[in-house]
Amino acid sequence: MATEKQDSSRKRPPNFRIEIPGDETVKSRILEKLQKVKGYLTSTLNKPVNNSLIIEELLDFWIKQQLGSDNSKELHPFPSTYSQTRSQDVDQGLFVTAEKSLDTYGELFEAHTSICNGKLKVLKRTMKGHVASVRLMCTKEKSHSYLWSSSSYLPNDEFLVNHRICHAFYSSGFLPVHYTRFVNGTGIGCITKERRLKFFRTYKEHAENESDQSVDNAINDDFFSYDDLDGINIMKDARHGWRKNAKDTTVVALGEKMHKVMDCEPITKSQDKVVKRHDRLGTQIIYEHLENKNMSIKIHAYDRNVSVNKFVRDNLLSIRMTYGMLSRHQDVQGYQTFRGYKLKCTATR
Ligand SMILES: [Zn+2]
Repeated sequence: MATEKQDSSRKRPPNFRIEIPGDETVKSRILEKLQKVKGYLTSTLNKPVNNSLIIEELLDFWIKQQLGSDNSKELHPFPSTYSQTRSQDVDQGLFVTAEKSLDTYGELFEAHTSICNGKLKVLKRTMKGHVASVRLMCTKEKSHSYLWSSSSYLPNDEFLVNHRICHAFYSSGFLPVHYTRFVNGTGIGCITKERRLKFFRTYKEHAENESDQSVDNAINDDFFSYDDLDGINIMKDARHGWRKNAKDTTVVALGEKMHKVMDCEPITKSQDKVVKRHDRLGTQIIYEHLENKNMSIKIHAYDRNVSVNKFVRDNLLSIRMTYGMLSRHQDVQGYQTFRGYKLKCTATR
């Protein structure tokens, strides 16, 4: 009786389960291999072996073979590139970097590792616009100190990253207040107003040259797409800066054939205080520009605007007003004198 009581009260040693996916075939295959290893280990170690000893022996053997060492720490010699942000780090410094600068950082790190086994740590970070200028210091040798920038330089000694962001700022239509709110919210640094204006002065020149070139190409492309090379048809519309009391209006003319921009005139209140007249003034400037390029307008399509109607009637050989896309028109014919020629005028209402 005593023996039976002892047996039933014997505790099982602590254990855990590993779930192995697989059907009966997989199960019998694995158990067979485990049995084989168990038999070998029992005879060489000359003691009974359990599953945990078998699996550890197998894993140590694999690690030794693959990594040349049984030190399990060497299984992960590199830190994981996936890292989670701790709540205290959410406000850490952010900056904008360029691919090539990241390569430079890698090369710097590699060169330091080849001469020293200390680690490079960020000692100080200074923001220059959106670029971080970082002082790196070795944990072992103080003379190992390097300065790394998150952007490369342009020939004018300005940072590529800052110029790229200035370009985006000026070409996106962002107002300065939008820019500062955005960068302050993100915490990626800010390009000062003075530097933005300095950039703008040069940028304006280049943008104007590009725009002139693009317009010239567009006019030529459109002109040569007609069989009789005697002028072009244009479509024109105006967009106000905002609906009520618009501070500016952009008047744009497109070539009817290629739909490329023939001219784009921003009209502000400094040119005419009356916003209602902006469309007409823009149209007048577009006509003057096309005339200076010796380009005749054959048909001008646009939406209803009384002051523009009058201007076009007074100036154009062939007038076609449309509501929307060249539709719902009714011809009214008459004669107009334009550039010394008496020509048939077709107005569509
Ligand atoms: Zn060092």
